[in-house]
Amino acid sequence: MPMHDEKETMNAEAGSFRDKKMGGKRTTFKKTVCKFCAQKIEPDYKNPDMLRRCTTERGKILPARITGTCAKHQRALTQEIKRARVLAYLPFDKQ
Ligand SMILES: [Zn+2]
Repeated sequence: MPMHDEKETMNAEAGSFRDKKMGGKRTTFKKTVCKFCAQKIEPDYKNPDMLRRCTTERGKILPARITGTCAKHQRALTQEIKRARVLAYLPFDKQ
């Protein structure tokens, strides 16, 4: 599946992703703090607006290295997004 057409959806939160792609070295790497840790909240399927910020327009879950989400919250987030999909709060991956 091609990944190149998703570039536009990687916006402010994905600044470090672009830097990494442009330079050979990761001197410009900016540390992104996990937004769930920072705000002291947990991913919740009842809050689809928050979950949507961690997915692409097509409904794919953004990888943790792009959003800066820590491993613990990325796991929880994946679970909550899947729950939200079943409840039709979020779209499934449309390919
Ligand atoms: Zn976290």
